[in-house]
Amino acid sequence: MTAFINSLDRGNAPYLDELEKRAKADDVPIIRKDTQALLKFLMAQSRPKNILEVGCAIGFSALLMAEYSDSDTRITTIEKFEKRIPIAKENFIQYDTNNKITLLEGDATEILKTLSPGYDFIFMDAAKGQYINFLPDCLRILNKGGLLVSDNVLQDGDVIESRFAVTRRDRTIHARMREYLYELKHNDALNTVILTVGDGMTLSVRL
Ligand code: SAM
Repeated sequence: MTAFINSLDRGNAPYLDELEKRAKADDVPIIRKDTQALLKFLMAQSRPKNILEVGCAIGFSALLMAEYSDSDTRITTIEKFEKRIPIAKENFIQYDTNNKITLLEGDATEILKTLSPGYDFIFMDAAKGQYINFLPDCLRILNKGGLLVSDNVLQDGDVIESRFAVTRRDRTIHARMREYLYELKHNDALNTVILTVGDGMTLSVRL
């Protein structure tokens, strides 16, 4: 089904397709095709003005959101991996021609605490075991009516595997992800839908 859906996709701006190829060649994890389509849809449908991304890598998804959002949209993105930061910076200099993107260098655990409220769209795409720790700050800075979008929440289905079928490290990550999903579905401040798009995604609206 995913291959069929992706076969209908018209692709992105050529520089994004090029960046995607480079990321794949260098083993940099970036959002999948169907996730890209959903993000583009959400840019057009919810028209966010102030976006926060947690997990920039080399800037592919930030540039995708910049490309397909309104001209006055601003994007702040966080990355802690020193090897990826200079590449992201270079890509933003080259492709973020409208200066929509600001890169914050460092650990999201620290940086999120320093951010002020006012975001209408948060894209969570960092260390999967940390989502549950990032959530309180995300809820603090997300506007009412704003969207929290989280990627890789089903880990190709591994999240629902028996704990004995996975390694100890993955067991911990999966347990934390299950806790995160439970919280998203049971927190009275949120209305959440869990989708099997890409590697599993959630869309949560702040009530
Ligand atoms: N959103 C990117 C895209 O699709 O183009 C991909 C992000 S990649 C899946 C996840 C990134 O999050 C990695 O580059 C990793 O270094 C970063 N990351 C993980 N934990 C982090 C943390 N606590 N603070 C900041 N960055 C983190």
